[in-house]
Amino acid sequence: MPKIDCIRCHRTAPTIDGVTYPGKLGEELSAKICADCWAEWQHAEVMVINELRLNFMDPRSQEILVQHMREFLCLDGPPSRPPPGPPPEAP
Ligand SMILES: [Zn+2]
Repeated sequence: MPKIDCIRCHRTAPTIDGVTYPGKLGEELSAKICADCWAEWQHAEVMVINELRLNFMDPRSQEILVQHMREFLCLDGPPSRPPPGPPPEAP
């Protein structure tokens, strides 16, 4: 299984299995984010969708969701506040 240096959890970890988003964004995620962090986002994503009442038929909702995802996964640099919860594989 291929591995990458994840920019979020700073581990060398397995890459995301499969395609997340089409195009550049999906490539960026596969190149920077590990499978564990992606799984974490998938849990957080459900909460964001429920909290903000996002509608997938609405392109603006998708934009908002991507923005939350980029922030959650630190794609645009370190977060302004610490990420919630301990890392998935704490010793
Ligand atoms: Zn990671």
